[in-house]
Amino acid sequence: MKFETKVIHAGIEPDPATGAIMTPIYQTSTYVQEAPGKHKGYEYARTQNPTRSVLEANLAALENGVKGICFASGLAAMDAVMKLLEPGDEVISTYELYGGSYRLMTQLFTRYGIKAHFIDLNDKTLLRNHINDKTKLIWIETPTNPMLSILDIKYICNLARKHKIITCVDNTFASPYLQNPIDLGADLVHHSATKYLAGHSDVILGAIVSNDKELAERLYFIQNASGAVPGPQDCFLTLRGIKTLHLRVQRACDNALEIAGFLKKQKRVDKVFYPGFKDAPNHQIAKRQMKHYGAMVSFNLKSDTKRAANRVLNKTKLFSLAESLGGVESLIGHPASMTHASIPKKERLSIGLTDSLIRLSVGVEHVDDLIADLKSALN
Ligand SMILES: *Cc1c(COP(=O)(O)O)cnc(C)c1O
Repeated sequence: MKFETKVIHAGIEPDPATGAIMTPIYQTSTYVQEAPGKHKGYEYARTQNPTRSVLEANLAALENGVKGICFASGLAAMDAVMKLLEPGDEVISTYELYGGSYRLMTQLFTRYGIKAHFIDLNDKTLLRNHINDKTKLIWIETPTNPMLSILDIKYICNLARKHKIITCVDNTFASPYLQNPIDLGADLVHHSATKYLAGHSDVILGAIVSNDKELAERLYFIQNASGAVPGPQDCFLTLRGIKTLHLRVQRACDNALEIAGFLKKQKRVDKVFYPGFKDAPNHQIAKRQMKHYGAMVSFNLKSDTKRAANRVLNKTKLFSLAESLGGVESLIGHPASMTHASIPKKERLSIGLTDSLIRLSVGVEHVDDLIADLKSALN
């Protein structure tokens, strides 16, 4: 089945009780049993919920995995992956990663004896030097936030496999329409479904897709034991959002390509960060592992101050100033004072995250209107 068909049909059957074509919201906490232990496969809604099961099956199909496991948020999903580890285990992670993921590893799991190394995963020697007997997980995020760097998923996963290390790719920025890490050798795929999957800025939800039955069983155990499950209404909204994933992401990518080109020609703009440019670092890897280059574009200004950035941020009318990404509407943000404010300035500058860096989440509006909005804000 092709992707465009899977988003609408994979794992989705008319409701067996009524024939309802749309998966119902099973808003219930428990299920009546015929006799003790004699039931229809559903006992208690933390453990099983039919709306959630359909979403899990659909996500597994979209990522070409074996099983999907859904959580209350993207970070709850990552928390479950971290709980596969034991005290003494080590994680190697990209150093350019979502701030909340960094916080989870450094401020929570270090307290339970799990050590994380944050390195440039593009540096093959550095990566090899960090692998040892204690390494149990490699955490990959690509494209990265907010610099939109690209990591070679296939290379890292192949290397990890040789050392029996689990790999998990945070695929939030790409979405399964653009990139399928399991096809490139990953064991697990992580999603903040809050972003492109749900796609309408109205849900918080997370998911892991596993390529391995045994890992999936362990994650289901954690899902039930820790209990960070999403509610049925949020599962329904995510399922509804996914039905148009291919249309939304395709249009947003087309818009982003034009906007990146427009920004490159502006006299006030210094650098544009967008993996679709032929001269972007790792452009060839992006071309190989992604279907398009995504709908996120970052740029900084020649006048490299927060004040200069603020002048642009305050003037856009269609691009709303907000954190998050992946919705139908365009957003604009200032990583240095918003999403990445907790990172020391020296570290920020070392990855190119300067004071004037502006991040765009390009939506599906008409591109002419979006460009006009940026043009008037820049001038
Ligand atoms: C938003 C985000 C997360 C966290 O997801 P939540 O749903 O907000 O918990 C993790 N990784 C990336 C790349 C994100 O953008």
